[in-house]
Amino acid sequence: MADPKGFLTTPRQEAPRRPVEERVRDWAEVHVPGGLLPIVGAQADRCMDCGIPFCHEACPLGNLIPEWNELVARDDWRAASERLHATNNFPEFTGRLCPAPCEAGCVLAINQPAVTIKNVEVTIAERGWAEGFVAARPPGRLSGRTVAVIGSGPAGLAAAQQLTRAGHTVAVYERDDRVGGLLRYGIPSFKMEKSQLERRVAQLVAEGVRFRTGVEIGKHLGADRLRARYDAVIVATGATAWRELDLPGRELAGVHQAMEYLPLANRVCEGDLEVSPLSAEGKHVVIVGGGDTGADCLGTAVRERAASVSQLDIYARPGDVRDEAAEPWPTYPKLYRLSAAHEEAGELRTAPAADADARLFAASTLRLTGDADGRVREVHLVEVDAERRPRAGTERGLPADLVLIALGFHGPERRADGLADQLGLGTGERGGFARDATFATEVPGVFVAGDAGRGQSLVVWAIAEGRAAAAAVDRWLTGSTRLPAPIGAHDRPMEV
Ligand SMILES: Cc1cc2nc3c(=O)[nH]c(=O)nc-3n(C[C@H](O)[C@H](O)[C@H](O)COP(=O)(O)OP(=O)(O)OC[C@H]3O[C@@H](n4cnc5c(N)ncnc54)[C@H](O)[C@@H]3O)c2cc1C
Ligand code: SF4
Repeated sequence: MADPKGFLTTPRQEAPRRPVEERVRDWAEVHVPGGLLPIVGAQADRCMDCGIPFCHEACPLGNLIPEWNELVARDDWRAASERLHATNNFPEFTGRLCPAPCEAGCVLAINQPAVTIKNVEVTIAERGWAEGFVAARPPGRLSGRTVAVIGSGPAGLAAAQQLTRAGHTVAVYERDDRVGGLLRYGIPSFKMEKSQLERRVAQLVAEGVRFRTGVEIGKHLGADRLRARYDAVIVATGATAWRELDLPGRELAGVHQAMEYLPLANRVCEGDLEVSPLSAEGKHVVIVGGGDTGADCLGTAVRERAASVSQLDIYARPGDVRDEAAEPWPTYPKLYRLSAAHEEAGELRTAPAADADARLFAASTLRLTGDADGRVREVHLVEVDAERRPRAGTERGLPADLVLIALGFHGPERRADGLADQLGLGTGERGGFARDATFATEVPGVFVAGDAGRGQSLVVWAIAEGRAAAAAVDRWLTGSTRLPAPIGAHDRPMEV
């Protein structure tokens, strides 16, 4: 640490967000461009360079956080970029999207605000690109071995980059028209602009990765043919089988899954559509589900100029401080967090009720009712206690022309006679495809990485999965590997 007293003299300062009134009129990222540069050196210097850095343990990638904090504090951006890329293929993704379990595990967080690790990470990544420290690293020689990666989300991209750099010839098959998985057609641009993705994909192409978009394995190309063509296969197809809202009125027009709604808004940003066919403009929107996907719907509906937006969360409002008994340091606690979308909703007073940030906590949906034309008009809900028992006298209705279901996902898709059937993949943990601790399935040469094996998770876990699965494939192909494996397939976040 450059300043041993930094944590005593410098308060935590986060990346400044653009004013709400300005940012809801566009789809650009919510933060002030370049806003971190003037503050990030002093923020990195709050790091105490602990003997046992719990932040490092809490990050699934094992990012070398104290090392790069010190390099940033000393203004050595080239070395910081090298140390960051030693463990993370795509730090500009995690630096924007990660919920930062590392910060929950920061030793400072025991009794004061954690180091802004995620902000330091994204600044190093941006500086690395701006100064030309991030370049294509094609392999020195080819191994003659070939690998097919199915799915181009963060797990597939990380696996493809690692294996290509190890000298294997890698092709990534993607059923969508563009590469990126949920980074492309799930996560809204105001959280991460797609130019971030393009820049990395160009790097992968320059290193030798081949992309085949518009090809669904199992439909356009049979799994058997793929296996015959390649020495190994990695299934990185995500966990996008959504949970349903099994209630009266689900069949009404105007009721959609979040993942039917969000990709259309992404396509407007890509320039494919002028207006989303499901646009929230002028509509009363109710989002059923209190998680991050729901918050992404909220920010999208606000930008589409909805008449009102509410988000229903069945759980009680979380506390503002960590419950030391239930979720002690260094685990990741469930806290009341004000995402950019909730801040926007709060300032713009978008909710029909007097709710601070459009969220209704402890709210259970009862049914949806519609008009004579079969269009949804109202969502009926009731307040519930911790055991989800309705509280008498709290039933009420919210006006609704568009209802978005954001209840999460129960695992990878399994279409009859699709990829999973053709490969004979079983079901493992959390609904994912069955695999052993080294990411291998029972089918020789077939491995599973990312949400497809782990179940619905996070970008940082997907990258860690891709890196670790690449190491397993490299070992399977050559008998040994020098590729790092930050996690095992059955590792889980730290909890009590
Ligand atoms: C709306 C939303 C917002 C999110 N926001 C965040 C966030 O802010 N931060 C965070 O950390 N995580 C977030 N997540 C979770 C994160 O996006 C996922 O955990 C991550 O993308 C999983 O990566 P993956 O590579 O395993 O799968 P995916 O990103 O799902 O990619 C799988 C890819 O496989 C392709 N595919 C599927 N089947 C086939 C086939 N048969 N042939 C060819 N291609 C196929 C799909 O088209 C897709 O492109 C969010 C998720 C959602 C839904
Ligand atoms: S990837 Fe996530 S957990 Fe790891 S250092 Fe970055 S913000 Fe923290």
